[in-house]
Amino acid sequence: MNSTKWVYRFQDGSAGMRELLGGKGANLAEMTKVGLPVPPGFTVTTEACRAFYAGGRVLPEGLLDQVAAAMQALEAEKDQKFGDPKQPLLVSVRSGSVTSMPGMMDTILNLGLNDETVQGLAEATNNPRFAYDCYRRLIQMYGNVVLGIESFLFERELHRMKEAFRFAEERDVTVEGWKSLIEQYKKLIVSHARVPFPQNVYEQLEKAIEAVFRSWNNQRAIFYRKVHQIPDDQGTAVNIQAMVFGNMGDDCGTGVLFTRNPSTGEKALFGEFLSNAQGEDIVAGIRTPLPIERLDRELPDVFAQLARTAEQLERHYKDMQDIEFTVEKQKLFILQTRNGKRTAQAAVKIAVQLVQEGILTKEEALQRIEMSHLDQLLHRAIDTSAELDVLASGLPASPGAVTGQAVFDADTAEQWAKAGKRVILVRSETTPEDIHGVLAAEGVLTSRGGMTSHAAVVARGMGKPCVCGCETLRIDGSSFTAGERTVREGDWISIDGATGRVINGVIALKEAEISPELAQLLAWADEVRKLRVLTNADNPEDARKAREFGAEGIGLCRTEHMFFGSDRLPVVQSMILAETAEERAEALAKLLPMQQEDFEGLFRAMDGLPVTIRLLDPPLHEFLPNLEELLQRSIRLSLLEKWGAADGGVSRSTLEALPVAAAQGEDSAVTVAAEKAKLEQWIRKVRSLQEANPMLGQRGCRLGIVFPEIYEMQAEAIFRAAVKCLAEGVRVVPEVMIPLVGHVNELIAMRKLIDRVAGRILGEAESGLAYRVGTMIEVPRAALTASQIALHADFFSFGTNDLTQMTFGYSRDDAEGKFLTHYVEHKLLPHNPFQTIDAEGVGQLIVWATEQGRAAKPDLKAGVCGEHGGDKQSIFFCHKAGLDYVSCSPYRVPLARIAAAQAQLVLGDKERDK
Ligand code: ADP
Ligand code: MG
Ligand code: MG
Repeated sequence: MNSTKWVYRFQDGSAGMRELLGGKGANLAEMTKVGLPVPPGFTVTTEACRAFYAGGRVLPEGLLDQVAAAMQALEAEKDQKFGDPKQPLLVSVRSGSVTSMPGMMDTILNLGLNDETVQGLAEATNNPRFAYDCYRRLIQMYGNVVLGIESFLFERELHRMKEAFRFAEERDVTVEGWKSLIEQYKKLIVSHARVPFPQNVYEQLEKAIEAVFRSWNNQRAIFYRKVHQIPDDQGTAVNIQAMVFGNMGDDCGTGVLFTRNPSTGEKALFGEFLSNAQGEDIVAGIRTPLPIERLDRELPDVFAQLARTAEQLERHYKDMQDIEFTVEKQKLFILQTRNGKRTAQAAVKIAVQLVQEGILTKEEALQRIEMSHLDQLLHRAIDTSAELDVLASGLPASPGAVTGQAVFDADTAEQWAKAGKRVILVRSETTPEDIHGVLAAEGVLTSRGGMTSHAAVVARGMGKPCVCGCETLRIDGSSFTAGERTVREGDWISIDGATGRVINGVIALKEAEISPELAQLLAWADEVRKLRVLTNADNPEDARKAREFGAEGIGLCRTEHMFFGSDRLPVVQSMILAETAEERAEALAKLLPMQQEDFEGLFRAMDGLPVTIRLLDPPLHEFLPNLEELLQRSIRLSLLEKWGAADGGVSRSTLEALPVAAAQGEDSAVTVAAEKAKLEQWIRKVRSLQEANPMLGQRGCRLGIVFPEIYEMQAEAIFRAAVKCLAEGVRVVPEVMIPLVGHVNELIAMRKLIDRVAGRILGEAESGLAYRVGTMIEVPRAALTASQIALHADFFSFGTNDLTQMTFGYSRDDAEGKFLTHYVEHKLLPHNPFQTIDAEGVGQLIVWATEQGRAAKPDLKAGVCGEHGGDKQSIFFCHKAGLDYVSCSPYRVPLARIAAAQAQLVLGDKERDK
């Protein structure tokens, strides 16, 4: 004998029993308990649903008996009887899963009506028109939901009946009209389902319960669960509840109500009411419902009661509620409540209001904030009232919306941006060579590549909107087509990186801004959090933006980005190409003042806050064109030499078309021969710099050790900038960071170099500048030998991107392009370790290095820079690991401040200290 309890009456449940009773059932129970006017009823558990499937789609043993017992209790409470011809009890049968889920079975109302009880209802209410209206609704809902007959067939019959009787609207339909419709409906059911509409009310109930359970596995529901990662074995509950009637006349009706405005967050009741209506009439658009505030005039008592209830529910659930209610003869009944869905803006506003009203504590409010909401708020967004001409849709790779002129290559993007134009870079895909174009563009659109493609990753890092993998675009030189339409260079387009839409023309945008409410939340977050939040910024503009967003300094300035500008690159290239020490020194001397200016800009923007500058990191060949391109130019030049310019002279414009040396040539009398010589030099150099595996090759401090003059120049620029800014009264806190250290000797050598330069420059200026020298920890060996390294470092900055690459042995570009998506999809890895830190593996190295480092040097500062620093889960990890700070891109700074506070609230200090 199975003694499982399958059924709970509303008075026996509570909000805490969501897993067992589903969201709707748990809240109906909770509201019953606090004395709100909820029609009585009971819930069949999610466990029964699981048992239904386990048993091969049969209701588990004992369930129907328990339902019958609960129905008897309900009969006693209502003083009615289920199936009784005089005083019939009617119920609704409502699905209700644990996680609110569209796609589940629609509710069946008025269950318990048949040819006899409908007469009883007519007599008992003295309202036959109402009774037959209820009956026709039941037959339609039952036919549709239980028997699977399409709704439009019922709608068609309804339409025919209205025509035949010449009723303009449903409210005009007479009892004869409904009776005739009921006959048609019954015929429809027999002809489609081959069974009659059941007259046995218990059969109605049993079939309805089964239908709810079956709907758990319909296509829509399965799909929704997959998308939202809801477990398939959660199951749905079934709620059976005595009916109340909003369709008994004009002092009746049904409505929905949000306790605050779900789109703006404003504190005002927001909703609609439809008089003389039942169930879904309000959303079906049969008549225009009344805005809720008008109910104050029509039914003031009901309105007052509703307002009180709204307030009570909010206080009880400590959140904005979405309420469904029905009014039967001026009496209010609450049929559902749940935490209301809301926009990002409303979420923030409501959280702050609830604190101000004493409903939530600051800590609770902070924990409510969702990262996805912050993500939306911190980017420009499309004005929702705007009408859009959508050209195509791709992947929403980096949120935010922008409008700009389409350009199809990085150089044009850069030139146009310099000329003050706003551009969107459109490429089939981007490569590291397009970086200056991405930097110059307002946003990026690609036709190939996924969420982790180069374009997507770079754009996210820069906080720029990006739509990628937009495969319906056909990009051809300097135009693209989307369906019938063509967009040419210079045409205005817009992209929405939050939805993936590509839109024709200019659209109205809302600026990202920190609302007063968000500022308040951030201030509360700052009181709580233990992690400091720094930013990754390579230029003063980003630095200022980040500071505005609350960054407490720069945790990572990548100096290579400063070398890519069109005024810098030629100088950098000639430095690399230099054959002699003098030539190299000459190029470096040209770079020095430019770098100095870069650093001055950062120091000024960060006045008083630390600025961590990483010395040059990438392999040198990244600054040169690739070999293939050079070889092609060489072939073209040979052809030109042979046929084009017999006398050896060549016009400037021809050379311009093959821009090698011409791009940097100062004298106009360049000859093809000179041009060729230069090109050959490039090819030689590129060949000599070529590496089998650049990621593990001559880069980072390995570069600085072999070519110390580069790091010397950078150090000199840093200290000169510091001296100059100090003289202006700027408070400068420079921190020099050595990349890619694997052995302590590397750090010792580089530290010596920096101290020497500092001595030279600062000595001259006689200023007592406190600077620090630290290192990236991104080679596993460095992490393992942290106790040695710490003796020579003032700080550790975990370069978690490289550390992840080297710990996993993945090169990120190859991994993300090839197998990583497969790994994540097939659950070989729980997530992409480049987005969320791999706590078990990479994380161990971080924890070890921090502990060992601090044991050797107690005041060692340690933090994480890179994409992980802006990821909530990774921030939680950093908090636990006891790190001092995270550093992330400017637009993620507010998000990181909140996440850091949440980490403290959820995890506390305990984890941190251990
Ligand atoms: P959903 O999950 O789709 O919102 P519900 O179970 O909440 O479905 O039912 C939809 C509507 O049906 C309710 O908003 C309410 O108007 C009506 N309804 C449900 N149960 C009852 C009832 N016992 N009495 C009157 N109306 C009901
Ligand atoms: Mg509902
Ligand atoms: Mg690195």
